[in-house]
Amino acid sequence: MKHTLFLLLILISCSKEAPSSEPQDTVVTEPEIIVPDFDNDTIYMKLKPKLLDSYWTAFKESASLYNIDLSYIDEVAFVSENLLNNIAGTANGSCEPYVRILVDETTFRNLSAGEQVFLMYHELGHDVFNASHEGGGLMAPNIRSLDYKLFQTEVKDFFTGVDYVEWTDEECEYIRSIIDN
Ligand SMILES: [Zn+2]
Repeated sequence: MKHTLFLLLILISCSKEAPSSEPQDTVVTEPEIIVPDFDNDTIYMKLKPKLLDSYWTAFKESASLYNIDLSYIDEVAFVSENLLNNIAGTANGSCEPYVRILVDETTFRNLSAGEQVFLMYHELGHDVFNASHEGGGLMAPNIRSLDYKLFQTEVKDFFTGVDYVEWTDEECEYIRSIIDN
């Protein structure tokens, strides 16, 4: 009799401890942290080194972020040429009403994505705005790869006029004389 009661108590206590919680939806989604970079930026992600026009599209979009409308410029050409001294690209429409960027595509494609966008924005800065190297930042003469954040700062400083000095008339005259041959 004593044994039976003991066993009964165990059974009761066991049934009490049985899990009674209902199945819950416990799918935990880890918040994805996206670090802004060239490859996920809404403008730069569309850049394609084999489609040079994509840099003009991006430049116009960047300008529009600072309320600069470049849609009036319709004479824009990227001309593929063999450039000497490992030069990837050069502005050939400074001080002219048109935009004409010469690109050595072999050299250009070997640059990093950061260097490619820096180079193109720099050359377009020359041709579209007649910006000289005086302003520094984006227009500093050394083409370099910047990290995304710093590049964004330089782009902003350029389009807001902080780092932007136009070629003088004299400089323009000289530039035209060497470009026109
Ligand atoms: Zn330059």
